[in-house]
Amino acid sequence: MGFPNSNGDSLERLYLDSAQTGISRNLVKAELVSSVSWLIKLRWIAGAGVLIATWIVHSFFNIGAPIAVLSGIGVAILLYNLFFLTSERRAKQRGASEDEFQSLAIWQTALDWLAMTLLFHYSGGVESPAIWYFIFHIIIAAIFFPQRTAFLLSILAILLVSGTVLLEYMGWLPHHALQNYLPLSLYQSPLYVLGVLSFFSTTAIFVTFLVSSIQERLRRREAEVIQLSQDLQRATVRLQAINEISKVVGSTLDLKQVLERLVETTAKAMGVRACSIRMLDKSGRTLEPVAVYGLSQTYINKGPVDALTNPLAKETLSGKVVNIPNAPQSPLLQYPLEARQEGIQSMLSAPLLGKSGPLGILRVYDTKAYRFNKEDEEFIAAIAAQGSIAIENAIAYQAMSELDKMKSQFIHTATHELRSPVSVTRSLLRTITAGYAGEVSEQQKEILERAARRIEYLQKLIDDLLDLAAGKVSNFIPEALQPISLKEIIERIVERYKIPAQEKQIELQFECHCPDDKVFVRATEDALDRIFNNLISNAVKYTLTGGKILVKMESLNGETHVAVQDTGIGIPEGALSHLFQEFYRAPNAKELSAEGTGLGLAITKDLVQRLEGRITVESKVGVGTTFHVFLPLVRAETQPISSME
Ligand code: ATP
Ligand code: MG
Repeated sequence: MGFPNSNGDSLERLYLDSAQTGISRNLVKAELVSSVSWLIKLRWIAGAGVLIATWIVHSFFNIGAPIAVLSGIGVAILLYNLFFLTSERRAKQRGASEDEFQSLAIWQTALDWLAMTLLFHYSGGVESPAIWYFIFHIIIAAIFFPQRTAFLLSILAILLVSGTVLLEYMGWLPHHALQNYLPLSLYQSPLYVLGVLSFFSTTAIFVTFLVSSIQERLRRREAEVIQLSQDLQRATVRLQAINEISKVVGSTLDLKQVLERLVETTAKAMGVRACSIRMLDKSGRTLEPVAVYGLSQTYINKGPVDALTNPLAKETLSGKVVNIPNAPQSPLLQYPLEARQEGIQSMLSAPLLGKSGPLGILRVYDTKAYRFNKEDEEFIAAIAAQGSIAIENAIAYQAMSELDKMKSQFIHTATHELRSPVSVTRSLLRTITAGYAGEVSEQQKEILERAARRIEYLQKLIDDLLDLAAGKVSNFIPEALQPISLKEIIERIVERYKIPAQEKQIELQFECHCPDDKVFVRATEDALDRIFNNLISNAVKYTLTGGKILVKMESLNGETHVAVQDTGIGIPEGALSHLFQEFYRAPNAKELSAEGTGLGLAITKDLVQRLEGRITVESKVGVGTTFHVFLPLVRAETQPISSME
């Protein structure tokens, strides 16, 4: 049992880990690395300094000193520095750990102090002018190491100096006096030895205190800055996560998808093992699991959750984020045993609140006890607020499309029922008009023809309504769409309207400005026929005698553009925005022709959109109208071979 293994690809956790420890770690390491290389640079000067000073003392001053030993120390300093330089370079290339740099720094300090002590001993011990160079080492140690270590090191320096001095004083260590440097031998003068040692010790302690206090203060400031930048980074990460969640969740209106994306992105963003959403059912009592990420089926089906009696649900639905740090022991849990079996230790439960009350509960689960803090509570509250909006939008959209479907279904059924009596009436009228039912007088014939015209109009209205409803009830089946040569379809329709246009002395022309004639669009023949039949029939209908109609086709940038241009009555500006609405007819069109359903353009637009195209119109009253249809072209490789030849 337990959690299904989630992939642990928690963006948030990664971010947080790097935010919490990354900055400080990186800074400490960067400081160490730069300190180590700074020490190495300084040491070149120190080594060279020892050699130069020895040479000067030997060549220009008549001071007797163990030149070979002193030069040896200088060379040794340069040699071990070379060793440290290569180790440092390798460590950098390897991206060595902080510990490795730390031990490099310690080894350098140890060798430096050894060299310094030897230098001190061989240049006269208590009489040596080099004694003050110990202070440099003490300062460097106070800069690099924490205050405690710095004090320990400065005590070590005092011990090294005092030890050497005292051993020389007692005669247990040979004294290497600098000849001709001091007029008298002082290393056995107790007062002088005491004076030098006490002044040296107090200076060492005071310098350590001074430097390490300043350094401590700087470190504290640095820690504050690190803390601040961590807080800032965490806040940024959370903001980014919320933004990401609202983008992901808001990218669909499908309720199921919204819920599923919400649980998954929340779990990933918070770096938790699981997330779930329970929504209140219609009765408002039971909380049903609607989306789950990372929980086992057994846990989800553990039992009903009653919104009125389940203590955790009750508290959450009252509008609070509830933090359960130790789930199996919490009195708020209705199913503590199941939670334990699932491995759940901590839970955060947040209400999903809609405009008119609670919608449900968003919950995150983790296998670590005491996993969630105040920030997590605020974070989940923000996610829940975002999620609630997306859920409400999706619910509203679902309700609307269901209503729309019901409406279309109703129209579909009603018009279907009307169709057969209308067509029977039509053929009966035709039978009477043709005289098959006995002699018909001229006057009766005229009345019958008028009745037939009205019945025809009724038939067209029913057909259009059926078209419209059919489009909404049943979507295009993508498989039914195939590459179709648009040019052929348009040519056929233009041919169809040649005679009606001639009757009105209208010039009807078709031009195809395509580089080759292979303009294929993904559609059904029927859909393309309806689209361009509606547009060309309108052009013929709304163009006065002697006018012109031009149907122009061209293909550019992956789409085809068909313009149906006429010199007709035009469309008043105020009517343009209503043109594609069902049953809308502009006033000047109504004046010109009483007949018309106002459904043609609504059907046309619906079809164009289903084919992933778009339709626009430009018009001026008395000048003419142009409808532009843009449809995506089918790429060459998907065209049928026969049509491409
Ligand atoms: P039906 O198509 O049922 O005969 P209709 O033509 O009035 O009726 P639509 O095709 O939907 O309905 O057109 C809606 C309205 O748009 C028309 O009533 C008319 O006002 C305007 N219209 C469409 N095409 C043109 C056009 N080429 N010139 C001027 N007005 C037009
Ligand atoms: Mg029309």
